[in-house]
Amino acid sequence: MSAAPEPLADVAVDVTVAFDWNGTLADDVPWAVAATNAVLDGVGRAALSEDEFRSAFTLPLDVFFRAVGVPVAALGAASDQWNAEMGAGPVRLMPGAAEAIRALTREGARIGVVSAASASAISGGIERLEVESGCELDFVVMAAIDKTEAISSIVLEAPGPVLYVGDTEYDIEASARGGARTVGFTAGYRPRDALAALLPEWLVDDLRQLPAIAAEVATEQETAA
Ligand SMILES: [Mg+2]
Repeated sequence: MSAAPEPLADVAVDVTVAFDWNGTLADDVPWAVAATNAVLDGVGRAALSEDEFRSAFTLPLDVFFRAVGVPVAALGAASDQWNAEMGAGPVRLMPGAAEAIRALTREGARIGVVSAASASAISGGIERLEVESGCELDFVVMAAIDKTEAISSIVLEAPGPVLYVGDTEYDIEASARGGARTVGFTAGYRPRDALAALLPEWLVDDLRQLPAIAAEVATEQETAA
């Protein structure tokens, strides 16, 4: 007797999962450290280690650069240089990103990206993610000047609950203000305790934990209906 194929779980139907890009779907912390150190070198400041970078990183970028000693007059140029270095960097997907997207899609979730980064900085990576996961994203919002506003539009248009997954305090705050349910991701730009302090609903160390969270949200939704 041959075993019947496992039926595909479709519990996450109507759940939308939106992701931050840098430090969440993109594994670019080492490159961000290098970009930061290129800026610091240009203004005669000492380089940061990866741990120092993760402790100090904040958004917007000019606040970050001010905090690590870039003179006020050089802040605009510092951000431009940083973005250019990031755009020229190699595309590396976060371990588990393609797998998580594939599993979420199989569950029936809608998937997208909401990022403050420019199209030139992240389009190549998104293309790579679609190829590696074999899934086409449902939406991509790039160069989002105000993430709260971008997440809020997604929440308004979504057929069901929206999860937002991001690696910085900025993501967690924008998600909560935008009406999404928040997943903090601890393997990106910021340390776990910095994210935990903002009490996101979930904190994950691995993106492969997301299908179970989406399923949990979908089940709650069904129970409530
Ligand atoms: Mg990020």
